[in-house]
Amino acid sequence: MRLILLGPPGSGKGTQAQRLVHKHGIVQLSTGEMLRAAAAAGTPVGLQAKEIMSHGGLVPDEVVVRIIADRIEQPDAARGFILDGFPRTVPQAAALDELLKKKHLKLDAVIELRVNESALLDRVEKRAEETRARGEEVRLDDTPEVLIKRLASYRSLTEPLIHYYSERRKLLTVDGMMTIEHVTREINRILAAIGAVEPKVEASARKTAKGVRKVAKTAKKASRPARTAGRGASKAAAKAVKRPSKVKKAAKAGTRAGIARKAAPRPSKKLTKKRAKR
Ligand code: AMP
Repeated sequence: MRLILLGPPGSGKGTQAQRLVHKHGIVQLSTGEMLRAAAAAGTPVGLQAKEIMSHGGLVPDEVVVRIIADRIEQPDAARGFILDGFPRTVPQAAALDELLKKKHLKLDAVIELRVNESALLDRVEKRAEETRARGEEVRLDDTPEVLIKRLASYRSLTEPLIHYYSERRKLLTVDGMMTIEHVTREINRILAAIGAVEPKVEASARKTAKGVRKVAKTAKKASRPARTAGRGASKAAAKAVKRPSKVKKAAKAGTRAGIARKAAPRPSKKLTKKRAKR
């Protein structure tokens, strides 16, 4: 599974990426983390990035694209990955398309975490507090002043990706204002609906089928009427496994936009107006 998590700073991309890693056993590729590690290691790229990051700007496209191109070549990314914080510009998205195309890989979905901007400052302040409480160093860019600049970068350079991926029928929007648990559940529901992961309902149907087959086997050994019943039940169970759920059918029929619409909260009038102004 290959996913992109899209959203402004503080929208919960990192938190959700970690939860997905845990559940699906794929790697999280966070360009922000990689750049911070490079900065801590004092590499030339890291030092250049540190300066840019501390002011809330974006590191040049070619730098982050090179980092991602190298990273997805690593063996641990072969099973799939979640991109957190990349791409952040349209040229980065185009470069990613090229990279994946060359490797004959497909992007499953882009999940946008939609949040109210007014909540972001609180979230970022809370993150800084929690980091301090753990005795770790607080990010240089987790301050109100830098956050304002990071948000401005997001609006002008990253938000166009919403249109980019929605045109390519990859965009799925989740209400990022829900609790962490709810957001995770919603993301997993969407992933199951588009067939990126095995839906829960199918997994339980398979379990049932397994149980019924076992019963059928035992019945076969016993009497003829029991065998007939067993066979019928087994057939029904197999059918249940084969039969895709309604959602999966819808996803297969290409109604990804429909799923997205269902998953997405309607943008507030205020937000729509703001976007229209921009
Ligand atoms: P993040 O940890 O994703 O919030 O990223 C922290 C900072 O790293 C950003 O504010 C940027 O300065 C830089 N950064 C991370 N990812 C990218 C990217 N894809 N393109 C450009 N700059 C990035």
